Amino acid sequence: MSEATKQSVGTIGGYTVLRREPLERLEGAFIQLEHERTGARHIHIECGDDNNGFTILFPTPPRDSTGVAHILEHVVLAGSQRFPVHDPFFSMTRRSLATFMNAFTSADWTAYPFSTRNAKDFSNLLDVYLDATFYPRLEQDAFMQEGIRFEFEIPDDPRSGLRYKGIVFNEMKGALASPAAAMQRAMGKALFPELTYEHVSGGDPEHIPELTWQELRDFHASHYHPSNAFFYTYGDRPLEATLEAIERNVLSRFERISIDSSIPFVKRFSQPASLTEPYPAVAGEDNSRRSQALTAWVTVPSSDSFRLLSLKVLTEVLLSNSGSPLRKALIDSKLGTAMADGTGLQDDYKESVFGAGLKDIRTEDSSKVEQVVLDTLTKLAKVGVDPAQVDAVIHRLEFEKRERSNAGFPYALKVMFSCLPAYNYGGDPYASMNFDADLARLQQERKDGRWFESVIRTELLDNSHRALLTIVPDPDLEDRKHKKELERLALIEATLSEPDRNKIVEDALRLKSAQDARQDLSVLPTLELSDIPMKFEPLAPRSTAIGGASVDFYVLPTNGVTYLDIRSAFVVSGRALDRNVKPFVEILADLTSRLEIDPARLKEIIAETATRLESSLANLGFQFAILLAQSKLTPEGALNERLQGIRMLHSMRELAKLDEQQLGPVIDELQAIRTALFRAEAIQVVVTCEESTVATVSEHLASLVESLPTEREKTRSPKPPAQDPVPEARIAPVPVAFNVRTFKTVRYTNADAPALLVLANYLRDTFLHKELREKGGAYGGYAQASTGAGLFMLGSYRDPNIIRTYTVYDRAVRWVLDSPIEAEQLKEAILGACGDVDPLESPDIKGRREAVNRLTGFTLQERERFKQRLLHVTSEDLRRVTSRYLADGSGVQVTVAGADLIEAARKEHPELFAVVEPV
Ligand SMILES: [Zn+2]
Repeated sequence: MSEATKQSVGTIGGYTVLRREPLERLEGAFIQLEHERTGARHIHIECGDDNNGFTILFPTPPRDSTGVAHILEHVVLAGSQRFPVHDPFFSMTRRSLATFMNAFTSADWTAYPFSTRNAKDFSNLLDVYLDATFYPRLEQDAFMQEGIRFEFEIPDDPRSGLRYKGIVFNEMKGALASPAAAMQRAMGKALFPELTYEHVSGGDPEHIPELTWQELRDFHASHYHPSNAFFYTYGDRPLEATLEAIERNVLSRFERISIDSSIPFVKRFSQPASLTEPYPAVAGEDNSRRSQALTAWVTVPSSDSFRLLSLKVLTEVLLSNSGSPLRKALIDSKLGTAMADGTGLQDDYKESVFGAGLKDIRTEDSSKVEQVVLDTLTKLAKVGVDPAQVDAVIHRLEFEKRERSNAGFPYALKVMFSCLPAYNYGGDPYASMNFDADLARLQQERKDGRWFESVIRTELLDNSHRALLTIVPDPDLEDRKHKKELERLALIEATLSEPDRNKIVEDALRLKSAQDARQDLSVLPTLELSDIPMKFEPLAPRSTAIGGASVDFYVLPTNGVTYLDIRSAFVVSGRALDRNVKPFVEILADLTSRLEIDPARLKEIIAETATRLESSLANLGFQFAILLAQSKLTPEGALNERLQGIRMLHSMRELAKLDEQQLGPVIDELQAIRTALFRAEAIQVVVTCEESTVATVSEHLASLVESLPTEREKTRSPKPPAQDPVPEARIAPVPVAFNVRTFKTVRYTNADAPALLVLANYLRDTFLHKELREKGGAYGGYAQASTGAGLFMLGSYRDPNIIRTYTVYDRAVRWVLDSPIEAEQLKEAILGACGDVDPLESPDIKGRREAVNRLTGFTLQERERFKQRLLHVTSEDLRRVTSRYLADGSGVQVTVAGADLIEAARKEHPELFAVVEPV
């Protein structure tokens, strides 16, 4: 904000209110404050939403790839002055009804957000978050556990081989294995030389071992200070109370210091650059067309809300759908099949990056891809951008602004992310979240001349700060890195004296005993079972029949948006502003009754899907393992695996081999499926809208239903049977493992279901988290009860182990049966289970969810009964369901992992898997 506007419009406690602006769409206000003495900055979004949000954010630009900011984020959450337990953050997740709790490290900031609907919970979490960030213990043991340490292969045997261990060390091995991560790394290195972005902010496993505990503490002292802090709050809780708590707990104990965490603008290139970066691929596969090329430019400052909006609109116009000119030109070139990772606009750098390119190319075609991008932009700058496409994009932006959805992520925090670039990089956060003024200016510029054509010229074509980034598959990369790591360790090991070795053993044993030690969690604030709301808000649809189809209207305050789902076994859904209901329903009618499938377009979609799946194998490992295990237990699981699992990947690979002419039978099959699904008698329509729109929607729906065929249903093909329940391993290009063991249980109507849900929470929080994450070094250890599907899962995520993890699963079951279950831990597990059955909703999801609940019989009464039963689950119940469902050896197990890990596990235990195949 400029000095001219930096005038006080009042004070609250020790804060100066710098600005107060109305936010019409939220019927609230935007309030910007600064703490006088320390300089701490604060934005509050005042509105009627009871899901209150909080975030504390620090700019933390790293100067190397040791992952200091990321490891600090982990260590900060490992105990603080007021809450000196070794894991207050994870402990709080089970003493709270938070609708969101997490921490993020980005390229140049670290943020700690949460949200909750419960007032007591908000104060509890605020206390814990403030104490964690400003007064962490930062103990050496926490640094070693979370970050990096030496340990022997067998921790108490100093001759078993020196290894690196640490949660972030493993997390980053997994995170950096994908092509997308390689592209991100190439972008930082090529476009931002000598700036913070040339480093791997999360930490490169090759450099993480260089970080020392002292450096970590220094980084905290110089960055986690009120003078470098950005606070954010949102919701209906009075601002004064929150500010008072922040001041009392933190700000009153600090003095202003001078911290320069700003990032300079990059020195602009006079010549375009290029860079090639390898990514790990599976050996033995055809990797000849697995490269990616991206042309990327450094463009406008991310703090400049107007120029950023212009570029955002332009990016959407160029790339958002198959008809967008740049996307179309790239796909039509046939050099590759899908948009490269990094395509689009990234505003989480100080200066935004625009990129466009292709996946699935031959390495030698990289510069041809760039030429297509440049030629297309040159042509557009000359002949002009289609104004209708610009209008469509602007319409969508306005739509998104109107929507207050908690889908995927609480709206309370979405608002923060929408103003974050401006807030963090010194721009105007109000302008960027409430972009009416910028939009009006943009429309004026469009009227005055060829605005987007000139943006294409100045920001892209005439801007020589550009790089051609090529990422290439390298089947030996992981192997080389692994060998290099072992060689490095061998060199270090050769220098170790006997006392050094003993110290490493001592450290390992001390860490282990600290992890096992009982902790006094009573210092942490907590909710009680009596704080849990027991009633669900009743929500009844207005049900009617329109031409043979059943239609449920859910009348809710949707802020002028209509949501519509056409259901049967397959859902077509959409949303539109109320004034556009007619064309909206017409489009749905086209899709359901008059769809023409173009072979060329189908070919493109198949190729794009196949490519996207292949390039995200590193991230899909967990999902694939879960679905494959479930396919071995139930017919529904087998079906799901075909739709979303490895079998789907295989089908996509087969389809991708067909050329356009061979797609005829596929199209016939798709058309047959469509007509079987969308018959007037078979469909169910769910509409969520405001009262004033019900009549219009009904009218247009009538003509939609009329256009559907009325023929009787043909015989359905039966569900596939469950697969052979043998243990299976799938090899994927990742240096980590995903290990899953799944059991068949019962659905929510069964009296055992509530106990199974509590058991999942109990196992995860008390045993698996400790054994798999803290001790085993996996990024996550989970237990999950799917009360809808009647399944129970134990799983590990980005795990360095296979056999050890399966042993932990065995021990977990025995542990429930043989060890005492403490009342406090049972209470926490019940709290967690109650949160699971009462997720955060918003009008757009409420109607839809209620429709599913009614369809599956999980009605309001059933849910209330289920929740009542949850409150009464006893430790005896936990033991009973454990022995009934988990202890009989009926679980099936599936691992998706890198080849090395699977091979090592089989060497040790040849019978471990009955099937070992590539994904
Ligand atoms: Zn992490």
